[in-house]
Amino acid sequence: MLDRFAIDDGLHLPRIVISEDASAAAGGDARFRADCSCGRMPPHPAGTRDQALAAHIAHVSTRTGPSKGPEWLPLDARVILLLLGCMALWAGSYTGSLALTDAMHLTGVGAAGIRIGGVLTGFAAAGCLMVAVRHYIAPTRA
Ligand SMILES: [Zn+2]
Repeated sequence: MLDRFAIDDGLHLPRIVISEDASAAAGGDARFRADCSCGRMPPHPAGTRDQALAAHIAHVSTRTGPSKGPEWLPLDARVILLLLGCMALWAGSYTGSLALTDAMHLTGVGAAGIRIGGVLTGFAAAGCLMVAVRHYIAPTRA
C-alpha cells in the first residue's frame, strides 16, 4: 500500500497505445506500447498491455527519488507520526470548540454549530499538515 505513496504530481500519466507495426509482425495479435504524458519516457519494445503498463511504472520509478525524511526514521514510523499529528490537530480543534461553547455558555444550535466548526477546522488543519510534510514521507519526483 505504501508503494502507492509515490508523488509524481500527476505529470506521469500513462498512455497505452496499440502498436500497429508490432501487432502486424505478431500476426494480428494486439501489441501495446506505453507512452508517458511527461514525454520523456524512453521507447520500449511493444508487448502485452501488462508489459506496457509495467514499462511505464518502471519509467515513473526512475523519475521519483527517495523521500527527504530522515533515514533513521522508518517510513512506517513517519506515517504513524503524521497520523498522530493529524489526530492531535483534530482532537485539539474539537476540544477547543467544546471549551468555547462552555465559555460562551452556548446550548442547542449554537453549540452544535461551533462543534461542527471545530471538527471542520481540525480536518482542514490535518489536511494542511499532510500537504506540508508530504515530501518528508513519500518519495518525491526527481
Ligand atoms: Zn513520465
